[in-house]
Amino acid sequence: MNREPVSRSLFDDVMVPNYAPGKIIPVRGEGSRIWDQDGREYVDLAGGIAVTALGHAHPGLVGALVDQAGKLWHLSNVMTNEPALKLAKTLCDLTFAERVFFANSGGEANEAAFKLARRYAWEHFGPEKNEIISFRNSFHGRTLFTVSVGGQPKYLEGFEPAPGGIHHADFNDLASVEALISDKTCAIVVEPIQGEGGIMPATQEFLQGLRDLCDKHNALLVFDEVQCGVGRTGHLYAYEMYGITPDILSTAKSLGGGFPIGAMLTTAKIAASLAVGTHGSTYGGNPLACAVAQKVIDTVSQPDILKGIRGRSDRLRAGMNDIGQRYGVFSEVRGEGLLLGGVLTEAWQGKAREFLNAALEEGVMVLMAGPNVIRLAPSLIIPESDIDEALTRFERAVKKLCS
Ligand SMILES: *Cc1c(COP(=O)(O)O)cnc(C)c1O
Repeated sequence: MNREPVSRSLFDDVMVPNYAPGKIIPVRGEGSRIWDQDGREYVDLAGGIAVTALGHAHPGLVGALVDQAGKLWHLSNVMTNEPALKLAKTLCDLTFAERVFFANSGGEANEAAFKLARRYAWEHFGPEKNEIISFRNSFHGRTLFTVSVGGQPKYLEGFEPAPGGIHHADFNDLASVEALISDKTCAIVVEPIQGEGGIMPATQEFLQGLRDLCDKHNALLVFDEVQCGVGRTGHLYAYEMYGITPDILSTAKSLGGGFPIGAMLTTAKIAASLAVGTHGSTYGGNPLACAVAQKVIDTVSQPDILKGIRGRSDRLRAGMNDIGQRYGVFSEVRGEGLLLGGVLTEAWQGKAREFLNAALEEGVMVLMAGPNVIRLAPSLIIPESDIDEALTRFERAVKKLCS
């Protein structure tokens, strides 16, 4: 038996080098606090990249997981199961959706969405209607199809040939979409708030314009809410905030609160194009994942929780603005709810990682969204005292960087 102590350096010996994880190894979490191997404590404003929506070791989620773990773990889709059906019913009751497909990640939920958009167009309008319009700087996952629809060419480099029929327009620029759309377009795919691309919210006019263009050209409007959904904005889904309803919506990240699950939501009419045998997933709709996600959705969708997100957002945004002003590090703090981005000023361009490392040294975990944006995506129920403590620690980090 291997009794070697597990240390960060082991990563380089045994893992594929596609990640560059931080220096510490966290071993335990509770709420918005995390402890590493040496017992050092951190405030978590990263939330596992907008995933741990109810913090770490939330008693309700632990209860849901343990309860289901004693009953039934897995069946595959040869049988359906109670947690999956209950969760699908809840998602249909709370959103525009009438049908749900379960996957295990955001990338897979998007893969299903894009395949459905093509299949629907193929069935109703013919094989020529297969083009997808998406946006520069967008992020939709790492499968070959989703990385091709995504708008960051560096993620596709060396993996070509990419699937065809994909065009990229400029985010928040309707004219660039008008120039590309035609009756061959089957779908427009957009993040209502670009996450990885730098916490960039779509404007109201832009999303409304996309809705109108889709209607005019019989194309489906796909909202990728993998990062901005499940309460992040202070609304269960961001489309509600805009009052613009998509035809297909993908959701993941916070949906499982840390347990892997993704879902694609759509209408009954569109869903019909994924007939028996056209698509699938062995783990999709797994009872453990669905039981946990049920608890997440039941909790996050409560009006007082959603309202609390807006209050926490104001507090965190004000603190970040204050630090930005005092040290001249942010040109703006943008985003919605608890998905915020501090945009680095000219003098700090390309230095987001230095802020991350400095913050970790001071005991607060933050994220970057590209090299120029400090991203915050904490638990949606982070205590206000933890927000204050995180800001104090972050300010110490910024002060050190500036000195
Ligand atoms: C994270 C993310 C994805 C990919 O999700 P995975 O679970 O990593 O596959 C897709 N779209 C958006 C907007 C994301 O933020």
